[in-house]
Amino acid sequence: MSEKRSNFPLPLSSVTGGGVRKPAAPAPVATPQTATQNARTSQVQTRQVPATGTGPRPPAAGTPQPAQPQQTMQRSELAATEAPRRAMAARVAREGVKDAQVLSALEIMPRHMFIEPALSSQAYADVSLPIGHNQTISQPYIVARMIELLKDARQPLRRVLEIGTGCGYQAAVLSCVAQEVYSIERIKPLHELAKANLRPLRIPNLRLQYGDGMLGLPQVAPFDGIILAAAGLEVPRALLEQLAIGARLVAPVGAQVQHLQRITRTGKSEWTSETLETCHFVPLRPGIV
Ligand code: SAH
Repeated sequence: MSEKRSNFPLPLSSVTGGGVRKPAAPAPVATPQTATQNARTSQVQTRQVPATGTGPRPPAAGTPQPAQPQQTMQRSELAATEAPRRAMAARVAREGVKDAQVLSALEIMPRHMFIEPALSSQAYADVSLPIGHNQTISQPYIVARMIELLKDARQPLRRVLEIGTGCGYQAAVLSCVAQEVYSIERIKPLHELAKANLRPLRIPNLRLQYGDGMLGLPQVAPFDGIILAAAGLEVPRALLEQLAIGARLVAPVGAQVQHLQRITRTGKSEWTSETLETCHFVPLRPGIV
């Protein structure tokens, strides 16, 4: 499978502390990906890591653990957004996400860095927002929920593939819970946007790829998890084939009405599928532009 190196995760130490200054003032915006969800309360208990390092080259190793935004990012900026990040994670927890590692990743990852400045007051609202090219950054709840569904308590996530990088936020959150993350985007300017957004975070275990995600990344497969951030009428066969045995794929499936589907590869030619809650994603499209 995957050879592991040991320069990840980076130790985390600086996202906390400091004076919390300006809580963002979120005002919900209706765009795709507003998954309807019901609330069950759970508490954010731990704060760990997002990973931050350089460029798209996934090393990986060790126990998945959030790393940390680094010197290239202003500590004051991080401190100023700490309270809204925490509030956002708490809200997502109340909506039913329980996984402490995922909630910690939401607490730490600076979502405002993935959103254009004009919308940054809404960065920590639990809403999807436009990122250009008719695409959106996903609602934090659905990002967290899908990653939670991908995780298997019995084994750590090693190599994970995301289809639909968009602005890069979910890939960054994934990098906190998986050892190696690959993310594919079919729209070149969005691939470039994600690169630019992620550069200051310096996430060492994340690699971005420009291409058609419906084909997966056969040269890197098998994956221990695959997430689709765009909805097709069915899950592309190539992606099912690139799952490791025992691994999970989480995807929105449908057109007008979409549901999250979780597929587990149970054998060489066997998969099981669970249909879960409704959701609303942008469409999965073939080819590159
Ligand atoms: N992951 C993003 C969500 C992006 S929206 C986040 O963090 O919020 C979904 C993205 O999927 C869009 O950018 C769209 O261009 C992309 N997409 C759709 N079909 C695709 C395909 N076949 N391959 C790769 N990306 C695709």
